Amino acid sequence: MTESLTASLTGWHHEGAAQFQVGEAFFKQDSRIARDLGVLAAAVYRQQNPQLEVLDGMSGCGIRSLRYALEAKADWLWVNEANPEITAVLRQNLAAQLPQAQFHVTTGSVRLVLQDCLVQRRYFDLVDLDCFGSPSAYLADCLRATRLNGLMYLTTTDSRTCEGHNPTASLRHFGAYARAHPATHEQGLRLLLGAIAQQAVMQGFAIAPLFSYFQGQTYRVMVRLVKGHHWSEDLSGFIGHCHPCGHSEVVHWRGLSRAVCPHHATPIPLTISGPLWLGSLHDLDFLTRMGNLAQAWGWHHRKKLIEIMAEEIPFPPYFFTLGEIGRHAKADIPKRDRLIAALQVQGHRAVMTHLEAQAVKTTATFAECVAVAQTLTHHKKSA
Ligand SMILES: [Zn+2]
Repeated sequence: MTESLTASLTGWHHEGAAQFQVGEAFFKQDSRIARDLGVLAAAVYRQQNPQLEVLDGMSGCGIRSLRYALEAKADWLWVNEANPEITAVLRQNLAAQLPQAQFHVTTGSVRLVLQDCLVQRRYFDLVDLDCFGSPSAYLADCLRATRLNGLMYLTTTDSRTCEGHNPTASLRHFGAYARAHPATHEQGLRLLLGAIAQQAVMQGFAIAPLFSYFQGQTYRVMVRLVKGHHWSEDLSGFIGHCHPCGHSEVVHWRGLSRAVCPHHATPIPLTISGPLWLGSLHDLDFLTRMGNLAQAWGWHHRKKLIEIMAEEIPFPPYFFTLGEIGRHAKADIPKRDRLIAALQVQGHRAVMTHLEAQAVKTTATFAECVAVAQTLTHHKKSA
């Protein structure tokens, strides 16, 4: 019997070690990968620290809290849900699998919970805000509720803004002017990281991203709160894109006035997005530990995903889509793995990316990718 059929007959769902009812809560089965990654990160943290206390600020039916407790061995959880109609099923789910002393349930705005933490001087090892929309209104308080070297797992689902289709909203949420270009899945993660970093720096701290994950229309980042001296202005900057030729490049603050595409006799200004996070999306050591744990738990698909994410680390903060390469090459859309192999033969580094299946991350320029693609495929007759 399938999981969904069992659930429809009994009302009980199973995921990882948790069993739970959903009731009127919003629950997306597809988000399991993100929950698995969160559990792995929390478990790695728990192995490295004497305690794991979790604030689950937007808990829904409590699935993430249950999994942090049962699989990552969280010692204690504050579980908050704004919707009072969900509280009964949330309490029932937690009480069915956890001792009463292990959790505390509240109903109300997460803003009040975070402010309560500030008043009580309560700090958490992991603050999880699984927002619908943008978490920007909570970032400052979220940082204040996180222990130094503790973790924050934050989500934005505002894909229209992340993809550069609403720069005014982007300015409001991220303090950045996001424009549309082909690598916007990565842009969304970097806008979110940039906004968190900015809030952290304003409070005298910095952040270190442990992993960043895009799926569907959802952008998730797991960051560690670290001391302020880890921040430098090189971590903040812009991505410039030339729509006529497909070129992308990093633009630093001091280079803004010279931001033109180098591929044209008459200079063409780059379309500029930012400021956003230009540091790494992931931490190699932490990802390796997560991957080892995934292997030990038999989570082979997650292990594979983590390996792909780890490979993304040394590359520029954007990717090139195969469709755009094919279009500019006036050639067939290249097969990803063939293009990667051909780029490597030319001495470039190149990998696939979890951000977009039909894309590559590479040290080659876009023009070099186009030239390589032209050697791979028959030119279109219209070329
Ligand atoms: Zn250009």
